Amino acid sequence: MSFSLYIHIPYCLVKCPYCDFNAYAVRTWPEERYIEALCAELRHYVSRPPWDGQAVATVYFGGGTPSLFSPVSLQRFLDCVAKLCPFVTEDIEMTIEADPATLTRDKLAAYRALGINRLSLGLQSFQPHLLQTLGRLHKAEDGTRALEWAREVGFTNVNADLIFAVPGQTLALLEEDLQQLFALAPEHLSLYNLTYEEHTPFWTMRNRGQLQPVDEETEAEMYLLIQERCRAQGYRHYEISNFARPGFWSRHNTTYWQGGSYLGLGAGAHSYVSEPPWGMRWSNIKNPKTYMAKALTQGEANSTVEVLTRAQAMGEFAFLQLRQLEGFPLSQFADRFGVSFMDAFPHVTELIASGLLQEAAGRIQLTPRGLLLADTIFASFF
Ligand code: SF4
Repeated sequence: MSFSLYIHIPYCLVKCPYCDFNAYAVRTWPEERYIEALCAELRHYVSRPPWDGQAVATVYFGGGTPSLFSPVSLQRFLDCVAKLCPFVTEDIEMTIEADPATLTRDKLAAYRALGINRLSLGLQSFQPHLLQTLGRLHKAEDGTRALEWAREVGFTNVNADLIFAVPGQTLALLEEDLQQLFALAPEHLSLYNLTYEEHTPFWTMRNRGQLQPVDEETEAEMYLLIQERCRAQGYRHYEISNFARPGFWSRHNTTYWQGGSYLGLGAGAHSYVSEPPWGMRWSNIKNPKTYMAKALTQGEANSTVEVLTRAQAMGEFAFLQLRQLEGFPLSQFADRFGVSFMDAFPHVTELIASGLLQEAAGRIQLTPRGLLLADTIFASFF
């Protein structure tokens, strides 16, 4: 048995106006104390079931901006992992998310020397005015240079994040972004449409008419363009927003989509264990100061715990597994829940009849048209 380890670093240099992650704009951050809290939390969990004795399969530093933290600090945390988790899988995947504005060549080299073998770069766009709209600190050339440095210091597995459907973006500008992205040849691409999350400045600006979102039709055309161009470049479209060269899919994120167990450490981090009987999840205190105080004194620092019902677990199974373009084997659902997928969700027959889902070789998956309406389809399982 193995599990994935997620570490949330909640600090950023600025808060982007579209972001609803647990992230805080700071000038300074309590790096040492935060690492101590992460180690205390890790010590608490891995000394008890179900985590004790299990191997760590992936480590993912996400945020926020993990690349604000020095390699020395991350080394301290990874030393704790090495000490407290005696087992790691041989081919462990270790990812760090990085904002190009925070990187130097030396820093990247030091991260690589720690054993971090996957870099996820938040490029977002190559258009200066779109980067500005998104409130990003880095310039297009910072992103390009960061990827070049990453290659020089030995990263052979790089993801690049891009955002599309940004106000002011046209299909032609998206095409330019994609061409620049392909020229850098990252092994993995995450391409997300801009969403307007409640309580973000973008949400307010859109509601006040100060921001003109890309219309739905153009957004759908953008998504189709992305799929077509990525496939033509040899990337496999394996999840709604993710594309990878053969063998370079994100193993960490695949844990989430396939319902595997993951332990999330840090302010606002989420955890999930798949047993028993239908799974349990919890999330940590969001405020970094309160999180640190509690983790350092009590080990755990969660604020919500939810034991899933069978109905919830069935809905989540459908929603997460269908995010993957290969879908899932119907027998897997029946084995887990003791009922067929069609009996559990009779409306699936209609979704198939209307061409949104398809069944092939014992698997169920989204159709190309279903991909465009994925959110509506997913909502139907809850
Ligand atoms: S850098 Fe990322 S996590 Fe930080 S505010 Fe911007 S979008 Fe959010």
